[in-house]
Amino acid sequence: MIRIKFLLLIGFTTLMAIGTSAWSANAVNIYSARHYQSDDKLYAAFTKNTGIQVNRIEAADEALLERLRSEGNNSPADVLILVDAARLSRAASEGLFAPSDSDILRQRIPERMRSSKESQGYAWWGFSTRARIIVFNKQRFGDKPPSSYASLADARFKAAICTRSAAHPYMLSLIASQIEHRGESATLNWAKAVVANFARPPRGGDTDQIRASATGECGVSLTNTYYLARLMRSAKAEDQDVVRKIGFIWPDQDGHGTHVNVTGGGIVKHAKNRESAMRFLEFMAGDEAQQMLADGNNEWPAVSSVKINNPALDAMGPFKADKLPIATIGAKQSAAVRLVDQAGWR
Ligand code: FE
Repeated sequence: MIRIKFLLLIGFTTLMAIGTSAWSANAVNIYSARHYQSDDKLYAAFTKNTGIQVNRIEAADEALLERLRSEGNNSPADVLILVDAARLSRAASEGLFAPSDSDILRQRIPERMRSSKESQGYAWWGFSTRARIIVFNKQRFGDKPPSSYASLADARFKAAICTRSAAHPYMLSLIASQIEHRGESATLNWAKAVVANFARPPRGGDTDQIRASATGECGVSLTNTYYLARLMRSAKAEDQDVVRKIGFIWPDQDGHGTHVNVTGGGIVKHAKNRESAMRFLEFMAGDEAQQMLADGNNEWPAVSSVKINNPALDAMGPFKADKLPIATIGAKQSAAVRLVDQAGWR
C-alpha cells in the first residue's frame, strides 16, 4: 500500500518505467476507485486462491479514468473497478472497457446488475449493492419521519434537508432513477422543492450528513447504507451516540422500492492479462469474495444465494429494492446533471 501511494506521488511517467519490471506476467493489474481498506483482504484471498499477484492503483474515479484515457494502448491496467452506475456507465460509453462474457458471471450476477449487452458481451458486472436511504433526527422528526424520496419536497421539511453535492455520482444516480420513474419535469419540480428545503448548502460526504442529522443541524438527509452500517458497528462512543440520535427509513417501500446502486468492474479495453482479469471478475462473483464485500464494507452481495453474517445489515434489513436496471440509471446521467443544474442543487 505504501508502495502504491508512493507510485501515485511520483506520478504516471515514473510508474510506467517501474511498471514494466515490477508488474509481472502472472499478475492482474487493477485500477480501483473503491476507497475501502477492507479490499486488501479481498485481493489477498484472490492471490491465495489463484497464485495470481494483484497490483493495484487506487485513486478517485475521475483520476483513474483520466489516467486510462491518457495511457490508452500503453495502459498496464487489466481490470477497472468503479463505484456507482454513474461512473460505470461513463467509462463504458467512453469505450474504456473491453466487452467480457462468462458462463459463471452470467449465472451469478443478475441481469439488472450488469451493463447492457453488447454483441461481444458486457462492459461491466456489478459485484455488490448498496442502497440510498433517508436518515432523520429522531427528536425533530421521530414521530412522523419522511417515507419516500418524494416526501423530501414536503413543506414540513423546510430548513431541514441536507445532502452532499448533487454533482456527486451517488446523488446523480438517485436523481436519474427518479427521472426514469417520474419523468423529467416532475423530477425537476421535486428537485427545486428539495433545494428550497435545505438546512444548509450541500457539503461533505454521506457520513457528514448523518452526523449533522444527529446534532439536529440537519433534520433529514440521505446516505448510502454502508456509511450508516459502519457507524452502527463502530466501537467509538461518539459514533454510538450518533446512531442513538437518528432514525432511518427505507424510502419508497409503497412505491418502486429503495434506490440501489452497485460496485462493479470489467476488463480494460487494452488489457494485456485478459485471462487473469477474467479470473479476477469470476472470483469477485464467488461466495468468498461476495461474503468479504458484505463483511468488510457492509454491502449486500450481488449474488442472491450468498448468505452473509453482518449484524448491522441484519439489523437494517430486509427492504424492497428498486428493480430498475443499474444500466438504465447510468444511461440517464446527463439528464440528471442538467436537471440538478437547473434546480440549483449544487
Ligand atoms: Fe462511498
